[in-house]
Amino acid sequence: MLPFQTMGEAEASLGRNLTFSETLWFKYSADKSDYFLYCHNTIFLFVFYTLLPLPCAAAELLRSYKIDRFKIQPKVRNNLCRMFKCYKDVMTVFVCAVGPLQLFSFPVVQVIGIRTGLALPSVSEMFWQILVYVLVEDYTNYWLHRMLHCKWGYDKIHRVHHEYTAPIGFAASYAHWAEVLILGFASFLGPLIVPGHMITLWLWMILRQLEAIETHSGYDFPWSPSKYIPFYGGAEFHDYHHFVGGKSQSNFASVFTYCDSLYGTDKGYRYHKEVFGKLREKSGGKYDISMEDLKAE
Ligand SMILES: [Zn+2]
Ligand SMILES: [Zn+2]
Repeated sequence: MLPFQTMGEAEASLGRNLTFSETLWFKYSADKSDYFLYCHNTIFLFVFYTLLPLPCAAAELLRSYKIDRFKIQPKVRNNLCRMFKCYKDVMTVFVCAVGPLQLFSFPVVQVIGIRTGLALPSVSEMFWQILVYVLVEDYTNYWLHRMLHCKWGYDKIHRVHHEYTAPIGFAASYAHWAEVLILGFASFLGPLIVPGHMITLWLWMILRQLEAIETHSGYDFPWSPSKYIPFYGGAEFHDYHHFVGGKSQSNFASVFTYCDSLYGTDKGYRYHKEVFGKLREKSGGKYDISMEDLKAE
């Protein structure tokens, strides 16, 4: 809750007029508690994981050639029933584990100093903070994910996430509740190290959800804006990890490719890309060459 009753008081405190975005923030947040503002993350979690996977799910059900040619594993199809089961299971984990943890973690947010007041952070401040969050998350996720591929971790926890050998957007968070919490810690570590404004935290959580849903979408669209991000792994990179499954020792990173490159865990993927490219060339650019065709070669 802002410590000002009126916009005039806020301007007097800052010694300048409020910017347009600060005026909007004042109008929205002045009478809301910090706890309620923090709870927005939980609302975003449910809303974005419900809405964002829908376009690709619809494309998979409609089976249009125009979209199918971008499907990474075109011969694998998920029906409505399987998609709904995936969504239902994800929501159950959110309701029983992630939501309550977010709601009860508010004291931590207060202690580390996530602020809700004015002035708002500048665009460059938000950019650099989110860049730190992405790098911290990516590096931590790489090692946590790699550890989950040890025999015990895989059999007891990570196996659930790998039930989808050809993932869909809804499967981004389809995992054992313990895995959702373990990898969720990696997302929260950046803000813990470099605390910023609540708006920066919201934006980071939303971007993280967008990224996870895109990499599990099952489609590799050449026009995706993420193609312009240097060292970005994307859908094809993570899809390969799911295709190989439990035995996978490739492509552990969540966002970028450099960790796998640095630690030599992308060799299988690079070999696969090379062979896959040759096979597609031999077939005259057929789009529905599937990964299974590679096994037959
Ligand atoms: Zn894995
Ligand atoms: Zn995955």
